[in-house]
Amino acid sequence: MADPSIKGLRIVIVGAGMGGLASALALAKAGFRKIDVFEYATDLGFVGAGIQLAPNMARILDRLGVWEPIAKEATSIKDTSIRQGSTNQELGHVELGYIEKTYGYPHMVGHRFSLANSMYQGCKKEAAITFHFNTSIKSIESFGPNPVVIADPRDGNGKPYKVEADILLAADGIKSNIRVEMLKLLNIDAQIKDTNQAAYRIMIRRDQIKNDPGLLALLDSDTVVRWIGERRHIIAYPVDNKNIYNISTAQPDSNFAAAPSAMYTTRGSKSAMLGVFEDFCPMIQRMLNHVPEGEVCEWKLRVHAPLPTWVHKTVALVGDACHPTLPHLAQGAAQAIEDAAAIAAALSRLPDTKPETVNRALRVYETIRKDRAYVLMEMAAASGRTLHLGDGAAKEERDKQFAAIKQGNAKVPDKWADADVQKMIYGFDATKETLDRFDEIFNGLAEEQVDTK
Ligand SMILES: Cc1cc2nc3c(=O)[nH]c(=O)nc-3n(C[C@H](O)[C@H](O)[C@H](O)COP(=O)(O)OP(=O)(O)OC[C@H]3O[C@@H](n4cnc5c(N)ncnc54)[C@H](O)[C@@H]3O)c2cc1C
Repeated sequence: MADPSIKGLRIVIVGAGMGGLASALALAKAGFRKIDVFEYATDLGFVGAGIQLAPNMARILDRLGVWEPIAKEATSIKDTSIRQGSTNQELGHVELGYIEKTYGYPHMVGHRFSLANSMYQGCKKEAAITFHFNTSIKSIESFGPNPVVIADPRDGNGKPYKVEADILLAADGIKSNIRVEMLKLLNIDAQIKDTNQAAYRIMIRRDQIKNDPGLLALLDSDTVVRWIGERRHIIAYPVDNKNIYNISTAQPDSNFAAAPSAMYTTRGSKSAMLGVFEDFCPMIQRMLNHVPEGEVCEWKLRVHAPLPTWVHKTVALVGDACHPTLPHLAQGAAQAIEDAAAIAAALSRLPDTKPETVNRALRVYETIRKDRAYVLMEMAAASGRTLHLGDGAAKEERDKQFAAIKQGNAKVPDKWADADVQKMIYGFDATKETLDRFDEIFNGLAEEQVDTK
């Protein structure tokens, strides 16, 4: 009979973002009874943007019982059109309707809020999960055998206090304090890397474009459109039951570079945004002009070098904390959710509660996830480089490849739309993979001493 105390292990999760919410839910569904989630923000944080919902994410969320409300609001994508930004001329067109039949879920695009909120509502139904919003995890005092962190209630809501866990999951995003502390302790140098790219995220409501038939047609479509140009692109799709046209861009990072700071997002200036895309076609100019002044939000895109390890003692890194991925493959959140599925599956197979055993199970999670996450991280960066080519032989070659899609069997230079890439990404079931391979990997890992040092 399974040891009942295994499911009583105290699990602390730092961050209620995509990885944190999914981890809490997956662990509760796996039967763990004591899960505490600490979140710096007062609520679910910045969620005013669209997000692509790929089948590898949908499969996990469906199993956790939270996919239906997300799918209800989302748009099922039938095709994608890659266009020259300056002329609106179509370079390549890829049918995506086959995805549902092949992978069990369509490729969808939706509102970030419905994704976060559905996971949050799912968590709230679980008695095992307690949320501590408005509370920052300031520092980590010990990585094990029982990790200890200092929780600091914000806005004068109380004094800092110690939290002790049996397992600590750091789902605290790209700026992860815990990653920094872990790497320092392990003498690993993995600085944040500046990608020199930034992104605007914009949402246009139906009523704002009601007199523009060209833009309304885009809003009423089931198409993801990407307009590309030298060092820049725009990707757009309908969300919120086609009431909102969601636009996300990538461009050289000039605003943040000019004002180096710890900030990753800022209110952008509309005129600066229009300037970045001034040589794009008149329809894009119209589209961007619909954005109300004051509603332009710019994000700095940062990554860090691949880490040699995600696990130390009974602490594991999750999501952007260990594999921040450029948005060009639309997989960052999906990968954080795969982490959650793999962690829950690995911990559900714990044979006992010894810290050494927990450490080994967490290393099974790392083994399942690390290489895959880093392949995708590099692929997203490479796809960005291809999409952002300026005039020259490489661009001509790329455009020939786009044109060859019509003949079938050609590689799609926009990686997320390529069938072989989709097979690798969408065909993967993180839960099944972890359960199927747990014994083989676990037994192959040497036991590491988990001492108090
Ligand atoms: C422009 C853009 C477009 C994108 N599009 C897509 C897409 O289409 N599809 C996709 O799958 N992904 C996309 N992504 C990526 C995706 O948003 C991220 O990969 C994902 O949010 C990472 O989840 P996470 O849980 O690791 O981190 P986050 O979602 O960043 O969550 C981290 C959480 O931890 C909290 N936190 C941090 N430090 C502390 C602390 N010390 N104490 C307490 N709480 C703390 C934060 O407040 C935050 O809530 C995109 C990203 C960008 C920038």
